[in-house]
Amino acid sequence: MCGFTFIRSERNRMHNRKPTPLFQPRERKRCPVCAEIAYSSAGIHPQCAVHQSDSKRMEAVKLKKQAALTRLPAGDMQWQKTCSRCKAILHVRRKVCDCGYSFPLHAR
Ligand SMILES: [Zn+2]
Ligand SMILES: [Zn+2]
Repeated sequence: MCGFTFIRSERNRMHNRKPTPLFQPRERKRCPVCAEIAYSSAGIHPQCAVHQSDSKRMEAVKLKKQAALTRLPAGDMQWQKTCSRCKAILHVRRKVCDCGYSFPLHAR
């Protein structure tokens, strides 16, 4: 009856485990959004939860936008500008467009 003995000893081991304290240290959950102590069971302020889900959605929108932007040759975009007269795409270093339009100097 090896199996039976095993079960009994296992049960004893379980029994000898430290009992869970009746008075648990008050767990102060901090709201993951505002880092303030939240007393709700969820550990997050309801208004913060709303804010979080909202910001998550905003994040998704932002990522989507970014993905759309990166689809364009971003590397080239950096070095291009558009002539405001003929809409030709020129290198940023170009000071004068083929159409004769001269770009205003960017004051830094
Ligand atoms: Zn909060
Ligand atoms: Zn031009």
